[in-house]
Amino acid sequence: MTRPLRLKGIAASIGVAVGPARLLGRERRRLAYKRIEDAAVSTELARFEEAVSKSREEIEVAKQELTQQHGSTYAPILDVYLLMHGDALLIDAISESIRNDGINAEWAVARVAERLRAPLLRDSSSYFRERAHDIDHVKEHLLRQLCGEHREDPSSDDPVVLVAHDLSPADAVHMLAPPTVGLVTELGAGSSHTAILARTFGVPAVVGVGALCLEIEDGEEVLVDGFAGEVGIGVSTQQREEAEARRNRFHAFLQGEHASAAVTRDGVEVTITANVELPTEIEAALESGAEGIGLYRTEFMCLDRAEPPSEDDQFEIYRAVATAMAPRNVVFRTFDWRGDKRLRAHDLGDRERLWLKTQIRAVLRASGQGSVSLMFPMVSTVDELIGAKALVEECRVELADASARSAVLPVGMMVEVPSAALLADRFAEHADFFAVGTNDLAHYTMALERGDGRASATPLDPAVLRLIANGLAAAAAADIPCSLCGDMAADPVALGLVLGLGFRSVSVPVSVVPLARAVVRNVNIEVASRVAEEALECHSAAAVRAVLADRLGERLDPLWKDPSGG
Ligand code: PEP
Ligand code: MG
Repeated sequence: MTRPLRLKGIAASIGVAVGPARLLGRERRRLAYKRIEDAAVSTELARFEEAVSKSREEIEVAKQELTQQHGSTYAPILDVYLLMHGDALLIDAISESIRNDGINAEWAVARVAERLRAPLLRDSSSYFRERAHDIDHVKEHLLRQLCGEHREDPSSDDPVVLVAHDLSPADAVHMLAPPTVGLVTELGAGSSHTAILARTFGVPAVVGVGALCLEIEDGEEVLVDGFAGEVGIGVSTQQREEAEARRNRFHAFLQGEHASAAVTRDGVEVTITANVELPTEIEAALESGAEGIGLYRTEFMCLDRAEPPSEDDQFEIYRAVATAMAPRNVVFRTFDWRGDKRLRAHDLGDRERLWLKTQIRAVLRASGQGSVSLMFPMVSTVDELIGAKALVEECRVELADASARSAVLPVGMMVEVPSAALLADRFAEHADFFAVGTNDLAHYTMALERGDGRASATPLDPAVLRLIANGLAAAAAADIPCSLCGDMAADPVALGLVLGLGFRSVSVPVSVVPLARAVVRNVNIEVASRVAEEALECHSAAAVRAVLADRLGERLDPLWKDPSGG
């Protein structure tokens, strides 16, 4: 393809990087099918066991490195992969396949992994699709050991942009360190473990670029725009210089943000809380200056298990989080499992009802230990909310501890499906608070699956903006708090608009808290409100974007404005 070339992907880690491409994994491995004679099965099994143990060791080393560099916050991500190395469904099934089907270990690994990941990939929930990628990563590590291959390292002292089909989190720990300055992957999602690590390491990343990624040649100059989710190939000297200047401005923009308050230029205070998935993120949340946990995604505690932890185990986790954050508030969201494990307060099977009640009892008990709220995801009818609240009361009565029975526990809901946003005034009669989830709201409104990365699933579409505004207006009329915890608030381009719409409380991933504060400090609410009024009258997301760049760009230029004026 001719140069220059611009590829579109998902902005997974903000920042700008420019450097020569270092291609990883272009040599596609060809697996051979081999029949194993009965007499050789035990040797083949031993070969597989050795591969499992070496692969586990490799991940242990990555975990130690990660802990040394960034503390224990993100180490549990790698625990998931370590546990998978002892998983009966995966590891035992591979051994059985070698033994019973009489096939070589490589073929058995590929066959079992495929059998496990196929149904997960078809699931409508991004949570389960992500688990399919976890299986892919373990498969890759096992095959590498079996085929006697080594991890490909950047092998250069000069800055490089890694370009890969995909990158497992364990490999990311080694490879996102210097000299790597940027990451581009063919697969991947903004919420993947590798994306979380890229943000932790501060490496700008664009993922999910698709097959066009193959267009990039080894050594050619690549520009990674982690704001726009774009990759530029064949960049000119001028573009490189502008990108470098932009990167420096971005760093300067963030300087000192830990110490400053989240107050707009015209003196309006904004509350910035953190979205977390793991209890170990609490330390980082406090360090980032987050004023609470606006969204605790509890389903992540079930990553490596078939069912949720016991009530006592959950209570311990919630108690520890609430105590560490006190006096700041923590919003625990009940398990947001969709697909076949939908946990919604109405329409529950016996087993799911038990799980949900176990969780609610644990949160009720923890609510005496700090400032705690409970939130239900994916609420789509008022009756569902009423049912969920009744379930909370049912759990309260069942508690043995009198103080936990009388604990104050605000019960709120996510506004993340169009029905809830449209009927928000009715929901507000029953909810103690709202949290707008723009990730699901944008996808449901635009009739796209959650995993669909098409640009039209954007909260900047005026249809989505009107739903968001409707939710906020209903909350204001009912005098209940309303925050925005979807990724719209984490996007520096969109955050100004969020403030203009009237939100005074947003919740963003921990790594984005300082950036969100920097954006708030550069926004003038009067200007942002006029921008929001205009945006609500636009006919397309592109028009909204143009209004934002035109009206808020002056102060936020260093962050997103394309040097060419686009
Ligand atoms: C959302 O949908 O915007 C949201 C915050 O929830 P999640 O991303 O966990 O689905
Ligand atoms: Mg959601």
